[in-house]
Amino acid sequence: MRMLIGGEWVDRAEKLPVYRPFDGQLIDQVPAGTKEDALKAIESAVEGFQISRRLPVYKRMEILWGVVDYLKKNFNDFAMTIASEGVKTIREARKETARCLNTLSISAEEARRILGETIPFDSFPGGENRVGYYYRFPIGVILAITPFNDPLNLVAHKLGPAIAAGNSVVLKPATDTPLSALKLGEAFVQAGLPPKVLNIITGRGSEIGDTLASHPAVRMITLTGGVEAGLDILKVSGLKKISMELGSNCPVIVCEDADMTKAVDYSVSGAFWAAGQNCIGVQRIFIQEKIFDDYVQRFVEKTKKIKVGNQLDEETDMGAMINEREAKRVEEWVNEAVSQGGKVLTGGQRHGNFYDPTVMVEVPETAKLAVEEIFGPVVLLYKYHHLDEAIKRANSVNYGLHAAIFTQDINKAFKAIHELDFGSVIINDSTDYRLDQMPFGGVKNSGLGREGIKFSLLEQTEPKVVCFTL
Ligand code: NAP
Repeated sequence: MRMLIGGEWVDRAEKLPVYRPFDGQLIDQVPAGTKEDALKAIESAVEGFQISRRLPVYKRMEILWGVVDYLKKNFNDFAMTIASEGVKTIREARKETARCLNTLSISAEEARRILGETIPFDSFPGGENRVGYYYRFPIGVILAITPFNDPLNLVAHKLGPAIAAGNSVVLKPATDTPLSALKLGEAFVQAGLPPKVLNIITGRGSEIGDTLASHPAVRMITLTGGVEAGLDILKVSGLKKISMELGSNCPVIVCEDADMTKAVDYSVSGAFWAAGQNCIGVQRIFIQEKIFDDYVQRFVEKTKKIKVGNQLDEETDMGAMINEREAKRVEEWVNEAVSQGGKVLTGGQRHGNFYDPTVMVEVPETAKLAVEEIFGPVVLLYKYHHLDEAIKRANSVNYGLHAAIFTQDINKAFKAIHELDFGSVIINDSTDYRLDQMPFGGVKNSGLGREGIKFSLLEQTEPKVVCFTL
């Protein structure tokens, strides 16, 4: 596929290959965008903004509904693309495509609700003869940078609100998974988005990232990715609005009164969805000591039933890591935890790009595996005595995206809600739950700002005050 710059689909002699992670097959290639391409994409977006800012809201809505229609008509193709270039099974990819439809539908609906307020200027002496209001105006050129693990829906979370608000965009998708993003770009073109409003550049973040992020014409950077990329971008960005959805290390607490079947089934699913390459994936589970042995036994039994393999096979439950380097990283972290006393109850083996669904106990809470973001199919089970202690241990990491608690006791649920330092606290489901319209984001190293269309629209617009003096 080609990249979209200046309203044209452009190619370059140098290419970046796109492989199918589960069997290493080359499925496509995209141009290796250069620094010059990055500058061209921004110049195009600067011109595009003069068009997008003048698009009436009904027109923006029509375009977004057009993209929704296009996606519905090409649903299977989008799902196949996600499952081929990315880490999801075909069933997981269908869910992502359905969520993308929801994200874009909400964007079209919310476009009509970008509201302002009248301001009571006469609330302070001297304001008697003043009337006015504020409204929200688009921020300008937005640089959107997206990760590999949700290659379609996380792109929609950038483009939907950006177009709804009247901004123009330079999108840089993950180098491992550019195809879903380029196909979504084609959907916007087909839906009538004027040329230059959306530009998509393919190319390595390490090569073109600084040129894009440091450019003064870019008024906002919205990144979904890892902490390292976030910190690199902050070093060069200068004074721009910044929104960052970064990694996490999500804890689940299981109380002695929990519904065991739900607590096991939902947490197994939450730990191994997308082979654990999921920012809200379950990483650490704290289980009350009275139910610990029973929970662990059921958890391991359920995990052993996960069918790993060809992501395009309907029967497959879990696919591969994005590449062998990542699978080796997980292997290294598990081996290090084992050398520090951790015990593998099931899994713990790498097969090329695949890493087995792995359940561990007794991993020291200072091990890298417990402290950092695993981003792989490994889950750590811990015993706790008192809820206060479980909450303290859950809070002990430097991330704070999602936390969860399984309990039938409303008092325990509210204690967890108030004391867990996370962007969301999920009761009686795992951390792996998100509705695309909810405010989504975290504290500490998990990021800056919130996504979820209404909340992205606040980030991607600014209030302008209008004051008439009579
Ligand atoms: P990543 O390595 O940080 O890459 C994310 C994006 O940033 C890619 O497009 C990458 O380009 C680009 N990038 C890297 N360095 C850059 C730089 N210096 N300047 C500009 N762009 C740069 O993350 P990933 O491995 O794709 O995704 C996994 C991470 O994303 C995990 O930490 C996960 O938790 C996080 N994530 C967070 C959320 C959330 O909503 N909070 C959701 C999903 C994933 P290249 O691909 O070319 O390197």
